[in-house]
Amino acid sequence: MKIIMLGAPGAGKGTQAKMIADRYGVPHVSTGDIFRANIKDGTELGKEVKRYMDQGLLVPDELTVKILMDRVGREDCRNGYVLDGFPRTIPQAEVLDKALAEMGDAIDYAINVDVPDETIIGRMTGRRACVSCGATFHIVHIPPKQEGICDACGKELKLRDDDKLETVKKRLSVYHEQTQPLIEFYTEKGILKTIDGTAEMQDVFTSITDILGN
Ligand code: AMP
Repeated sequence: MKIIMLGAPGAGKGTQAKMIADRYGVPHVSTGDIFRANIKDGTELGKEVKRYMDQGLLVPDELTVKILMDRVGREDCRNGYVLDGFPRTIPQAEVLDKALAEMGDAIDYAINVDVPDETIIGRMTGRRACVSCGATFHIVHIPPKQEGICDACGKELKLRDDDKLETVKKRLSVYHEQTQPLIEFYTEKGILKTIDGTAEMQDVFTSITDILGN
């Protein structure tokens, strides 16, 4: 089963992607996670992508496509995957489509997690991430037991640079300009499913499993 998660940054597609991965036994592939891991490890790739991410801009297609295609070419992706944060532009979608078509394959579902911009702004600017293990909390919705401290590892929680208000606004405008056209792209392919992402996490997941089956 090959699934694409669509939706604005902060729509909750990462959380749902992880739940799908667990339920259906496919890897969760997040380009954002791959980039953040590289930044944390101080790799050349990390240095290159950080300047885009910190400004709320997309990493150039050429670089992103290479990273993603390497990842989905690995053995564990043979029976499928759930893509979270890729594709984010029409050219990225076209490369993926073409590569799959050459293997006689295709994406099964593009799930669009729909959330209004105002809700996203509240969610993202309230998010706090652990500087050490990456666990995420929310100052209102998922507060840590002790303010500013990670429940999982006891290290400091911080507002990620890409979750700051100005960056979130920039990311939303980038989303509307560059990523939203994918909704049309996958609608035309007949595989787009839109779900209400403002519902409770578990209810959102139920809408998804209703689509994907058991
Ligand atoms: P995410 O965790 O998916 O919200 O991604 C965080 C940041 O990584 C984005 O704001 C982009 O700067 C970069 N990024 C992640 N995925 C992509 C992609 N498919 N294309 C371009 N940039 C990406």
